Amino acid sequence: MTSVVIVGSGFTGFTCARRLERILRRHDADVDVTIVSPVDYMLYTPLLPDVAGGVVDPRFVTIPLANGLPNVRMVRGRVEAVDFDGKSLRYTDPENRSRELSWDRLVLTPGSVTRLFDIPGLAEYGRGLKSPAEALYLRDHLLEQLELANIDDDAQRIEARRTVVIVGASYSGTELAAQLRALADRAAHQMGFDPASVRFLLLDMADQVMPEVGEKLGASAMRVLRERGIEVRLGTTLQEVHDDHVVLSDGSRVDARTVAWVAGVTGAPLIADLGLDTERGRLKVDTRLTVPGHPHVFAAGDAAAVPDLTKPGTITPPTAQHATRQAKVLARNVAASLGYGSSKKYKHHDMGLVVDLGPHYAVANPLNVHLSGWPAKVVTRAYHLYAIPRSVNRWAVSLAYLTEAVFDRQVVSIGLSTREDANFATSEGISMPKAR
Ligand SMILES: Cc1cc2nc3c(=O)[nH]c(=O)nc-3n(C[C@H](O)[C@H](O)[C@H](O)COP(=O)(O)OP(=O)(O)OC[C@H]3O[C@@H](n4cnc5c(N)ncnc54)[C@H](O)[C@@H]3O)c2cc1C
Repeated sequence: MTSVVIVGSGFTGFTCARRLERILRRHDADVDVTIVSPVDYMLYTPLLPDVAGGVVDPRFVTIPLANGLPNVRMVRGRVEAVDFDGKSLRYTDPENRSRELSWDRLVLTPGSVTRLFDIPGLAEYGRGLKSPAEALYLRDHLLEQLELANIDDDAQRIEARRTVVIVGASYSGTELAAQLRALADRAAHQMGFDPASVRFLLLDMADQVMPEVGEKLGASAMRVLRERGIEVRLGTTLQEVHDDHVVLSDGSRVDARTVAWVAGVTGAPLIADLGLDTERGRLKVDTRLTVPGHPHVFAAGDAAAVPDLTKPGTITPPTAQHATRQAKVLARNVAASLGYGSSKKYKHHDMGLVVDLGPHYAVANPLNVHLSGWPAKVVTRAYHLYAIPRSVNRWAVSLAYLTEAVFDRQVVSIGLSTREDANFATSEGISMPKAR
């Protein structure tokens, strides 16, 4: 039987598998579709800041493959290497056994990982926001530090425990800062200390927060962040990270025990190991999402450098919006390569972004209409409820939103994700630079 193997179960892999299976069923085609992924779910990443902020349960942002893709074979493992001539791949299963799988069509959608820089201490003491383990860790760790500060008697240590440094003021870092701030405010109220004693620092090398939403909405977001007591330092990043303090790029020292690194992404490590052409860490593909010189190999999403036909000479940005739409073209083109239907080029005009900035505020620019405040909040939440690809998850997230509107945010540190679970190697599969 002909086999299609999809690597990765994120926005692209999941949506492509779902579409492809439907097309093949319509044609009554004898084709086996397999998805290989280290996890058994598709992660709805836009709500990870809400998980870190204690609004949404991590289970609700994971779409189980078993429920979402009932007719697709699921193989749990991380792909390590591909033999393009022999049409096979090697993957490691969760018990570290090396296994092989053969394919007739290969779809590479392993997404992206946090872009780390060679900053001393970053990999050891900083944590990202690309997985449920990282989001849960940030929530639990911050609450634990606030609880410990309450019983500490050393002024400098208390300050460090009550200081959060977030690097990356694009939409995900900014949403994270807003959500953790709301959680810390609630915790302060419940534990009986002044919320203003918890310091938040949001850093970025850029000269604007969230350049993706334009100057006007970026300025609105900046005003709200400042009103909420989040210090924004532009043109600044980290120089060193330690257990109890960081050194900023201007040489100043900040005592802090919670450091989140949300400063951009790069293609999954597998991409660099394929021996194929890349652009900015992403696999080069043509407008029909095939890998040049390999007509039976396709790629899309964050892992691929897809030409942006709406802005010639550029590649599409790594967003869920593009990933989902590319996945639909992928499914069509893979089916076409098997003789079912015709292929097409990928072309999509960006439809804007929604950014949730915590209690009562958001900014959004759907179809270039600039919104902020309550209207943006309604659009943002409605958009997520529409975009989550499973009704049970939609239902659960709606209830979480409703609960937040009626009751106080839960201040609880369950301890499900340890510092080790949340490090870049374990949670994202990045090889860690050696500690210096
Ligand atoms: C916190 C956060 C908030 C975001 N908010 C938004 C937003 O509001 N709007 C928006 O448009 N975009 C947003 N994004 C970006 C969006 O998440 C990505 O663009 C999207 O996930 C890309 O989809 P993908 O399928 O390419 O990769 P991913 O969704 O990252 O999926 C990759 C999959 O591949 C698997 N994988 C990795 N390596 C291997 C391997 N070697 N073998 C097998 N499987 C592998 C992974 O486990 C995963 O299942 C956000 C991202 C983050 C981190």
